[in-house]
Amino acid sequence: MDGFLRPGLAHGLIQVSYFIAAILFISGLKKMSHPATAKGGIVRAGAGMVVATLITFAEPQMHNYLPMTSAIFIGGVLAWWSGKRVAMTDMPQMIALYNGMGGGAAAAIAAVELLRVLTGDGLSHESFAARELAVLGALIGTVAFSGSLIAFAKLQGWMRKVRRFSGQQALNAILFLALLVLGFLLARTEFSVEEYVAFFAIALLIGVLMTIPIGGADMPVVISLYNALTGLAVGFEGFVLQNPAMMIAGIVVGAAGTLLTQLMAHAMNRPISNVLFSGFGTGDDGASTMAVSGSMKAIDAADAAITMAYAEKVIIIPGYGMAVAQAQHKIWELVKILLEKGVKVSFAIHPVAGRMPGHMNVLLAEAGVPYDLIYDLEDVNSQFPTTDVALVIGANDVVNPAARKDTSSPIYGMPILDADKARNVFVIKRGQGTGFSGIENLLFFEDNTRMCYGDAQDVAQKLIAGVKAL
Ligand code: NDP
Repeated sequence: MDGFLRPGLAHGLIQVSYFIAAILFISGLKKMSHPATAKGGIVRAGAGMVVATLITFAEPQMHNYLPMTSAIFIGGVLAWWSGKRVAMTDMPQMIALYNGMGGGAAAAIAAVELLRVLTGDGLSHESFAARELAVLGALIGTVAFSGSLIAFAKLQGWMRKVRRFSGQQALNAILFLALLVLGFLLARTEFSVEEYVAFFAIALLIGVLMTIPIGGADMPVVISLYNALTGLAVGFEGFVLQNPAMMIAGIVVGAAGTLLTQLMAHAMNRPISNVLFSGFGTGDDGASTMAVSGSMKAIDAADAAITMAYAEKVIIIPGYGMAVAQAQHKIWELVKILLEKGVKVSFAIHPVAGRMPGHMNVLLAEAGVPYDLIYDLEDVNSQFPTTDVALVIGANDVVNPAARKDTSSPIYGMPILDADKARNVFVIKRGQGTGFSGIENLLFFEDNTRMCYGDAQDVAQKLIAGVKAL
C-alpha cells in the first residue's frame, strides 16, 4: 500500500503540516536568540521537527514504514540518552557529532537519488535542476559529514595532533578540482559506478584533509561553518525531494550558521580564512614580539574578599576556566552575598568567552543569575574606569590588553573586556597557564592586578567564606 490516506486529503494535510512545521522552526529560532526565551525556542523547533517527521508517513510514495520507525526509535533513544548525560563542557563535540549526522543524512539522500539515476530509474521527483542540486547537496553534505567527525574527534581529545604537511593546500586544490569534474559528470552525463564512488570518496577525503590542520580550539568556528554547510545541503536535498519542510529547515540552518560563523570570526577579529588556514593556537601562527615587563603578584582569597565586600561596584568576568571548574553556582552565591551588602555587581560577557557561542550565558542561566545583571561587551566596557574590582574568573584571552596595545600579537585587534581599566583586578586561575591563543596576558603583570591562584570553584568558596566572615 502506498501511503495510508486518500491522495487528495493526504496532499492538503501534508502541505498544511509542512507550513506549520516551518512556522515552528522559524519562530523557535527567533526565540533561541535570547537566553530568557531560548529553552522555549528549542521546544518549539523540536515540535516543528516532530510535525515534519510524522507527516512524512502520509507522503503517498511512502511504504518503508518498519525501517523508518526503527530508525526514528533508535536515533531518538540515542539522542535522548546522550543529550541527558553530556557535560556542559562537552557540548561543542556533541554539536559537532549531530552536525555530522545532518550532513551525512543529506549526503545519504543524495547518494540514493543519484543511485536511482545510475540504475536508470530517474530521480524521485524530476524538477528544475534537481540533479544538479542533488550533486551539490551530496558534495557539501559529505564534506560536512567527514569534517564534523574529525572536529568531534579533536574536541573529544581523540586526535590531539594538528596534522600539516607540505603541499597540503595544493593537494586539497587538486582534489577539489577532481571533485568538481566528477560532480559535473554526475549532474550532466551518464556516469559510471566508478565515477559515482570516486565522487563520494574524494568528498569524504576533502572533509578530513580540510579539518586535520586546524587547531582543536578553533573547532567551534569550524563546526559553525560545517553547520551552515549542512543546512545548505539539507535545503538542496529538500528541493530534490520536493519537501518544503526540509527546504525551509535547511535554508534557516544554513543562514543562521553562516551568520554565527561570521559573528564568531568577527568577535575574534579574524577572517574565516585565517581560522581555516592559519593554524592559530597551534604554534604556527607566530607569537608576539612585545616584551612583558613587571611581575605577577599573588593575593589571598581572604584579602580579595575584604576589598570586594567594601567595594561600591564589582564587575565579574567569567571565562573558559569557570566552565571547567563548574564554578558558576558558587560565584552566584558570592554575588548574592555582595548584593545583600549593597555592592553593585554585574557580569560582563565577551562574545567568545569559553569555547562556544553563549557558553557563559548558558552557565550563568543554569546557576540562576538574573539576565538584568548580565551585560555584553559593548554595553559594559565604559563601566570599567569607575569600577572598584574587576573579578576575572578563568578568563584569559578575552581580557588581554595585548589585543589593544601589541600590534605584533596574534590577538591584536580583537575586541576585549577592558578589565585593566578597573581600580583593582583580581584574577582567579590555577597557575601560569595561557589561554586558548597560547600567549602571555599583559593584564596579569599590571600594577593594579593581583592573582588569586586556585581552582575557580575552590577560590569562589574561599571568597564566600571571606565575605561572610566580615
Ligand atoms: P581562555 O581559554 O583564554 O583562558 C582560560 C583560562 O582558564 C586559562 O588561562 C586557565 O589558566 C584557566 N583555567 C582553566 N581551568 C581552570 C580552573 N579549573 N579554575 C580556574 N581557572 C582555570 O578563556 P577565555 O574564555 O578568556 O577565552 C576564550 C578563548 O577561546 C578566546 O581566545 C576565543 O577566541 C577562543 N574561542 C572561543 C570560542 C567561543 O565560541 N566562545 C570558539 C573558539 C575559540 P590556568 O591553566 O592557569 O588555570
